[in-house]
Amino acid sequence: MNHILELAERLAQTHDLPDDELLVLIRRRNPGASSFLKAEARALCDRIYGKEIYLRGLIEFTNFCKNDCYYCGIRKSNRRAERYRLTQEEVLACCDMGYPLGFRTFVLQGGEDPWFTDERLCKLVAAIKKRYPDCAVTLSVGERSRESYQRLFDAGADRYLLRHETATESHYKKLHPPELSLKNRLSCLQALRDIGYQTGCGFMVGSPFQTSEDLVRDLRFLKEFQPHMVGIGPYLSQRDTPFRAEPNGSGELTLFLLSVIRLLLPEVLLPATTALGTLLPRGREEGILCGANVVMPNLSPEDARGKYLLYDNKLSSGAEAAESVFLLRESLENIGYRAVAAKGDSLVS
Ligand code: SAM
Repeated sequence: MNHILELAERLAQTHDLPDDELLVLIRRRNPGASSFLKAEARALCDRIYGKEIYLRGLIEFTNFCKNDCYYCGIRKSNRRAERYRLTQEEVLACCDMGYPLGFRTFVLQGGEDPWFTDERLCKLVAAIKKRYPDCAVTLSVGERSRESYQRLFDAGADRYLLRHETATESHYKKLHPPELSLKNRLSCLQALRDIGYQTGCGFMVGSPFQTSEDLVRDLRFLKEFQPHMVGIGPYLSQRDTPFRAEPNGSGELTLFLLSVIRLLLPEVLLPATTALGTLLPRGREEGILCGANVVMPNLSPEDARGKYLLYDNKLSSGAEAAESVFLLRESLENIGYRAVAAKGDSLVS
């Protein structure tokens, strides 16, 4: 039998492969192996989660950032970024809009904005939990101290998304300025996990300088860390960053890796990301069909959406917009899935 297909079969059966074989699988993937992995990943997800897809309402509450990541449109050196920060009332108004639409998880994402001290952020989290005790609050606000993560957890935050970005030290250095380190990123992730957050990590597919060996290290890191959630999406260039001329990541490779990640971590919560939907016309649906089980429509106010520009042409309308969740429900139904209002906690212990 075709060697690549044999590797794919072994991955589907054993939920792992040695690094050298993962490398061969990535490098020499072919349409036959990809469609096999896609079917296996989707069938596995169906066995665990059924036909249900969890919705998360994404609230991009600040685009101020003290960091200068070379790939990101809201990096501090981008003078063209129009900065904004939502008030507590504005964030609560987003939740008020989302709740009747069926959202039971609110994801507060932002740049690393020092204005949001522990005190302010804890107040915000507590206010959401007080108004909506049956909802989960997910934070995605970057690197903070362990004490800060603990305070936010005590204030009611349930989950935390912090992509590790790349598990390869030398690659991390090529994507970030010297003051940021992989070591700190990973110790933040460990702290989040230890405190008791449902923790998410992840990476961009096709970020500048990424090699197949880097991807294998990313997959190995995921397998070892056993996160509750994994966010991956293609790298997409942004015109005001130092990486403006770098090509976008591949949609095909992103879909392939979604299937591989589902098979490596059967119970993981895996979103079909906005970046994938931006790159491919049916990216969201394709992502689900390759093993994803979460979608995160945008609940931010209209004018904020136009300013949270991590990359060019970022989708925030149509089925990507929370207020049009009926379009999303319809597109999921068309491929045999149902968007659910459930909080959608992780099954990973
Ligand atoms: N500041 C927080 C952090 O660092 O985790 C959360 C916000 S950050 C903008 C969220 C994610 O956006 C990053 O983890 C990164 O992977 C992704 N991102 C940033 N720029 C991107 C780009 N040009 N293409 C695709 N994804 C990008």
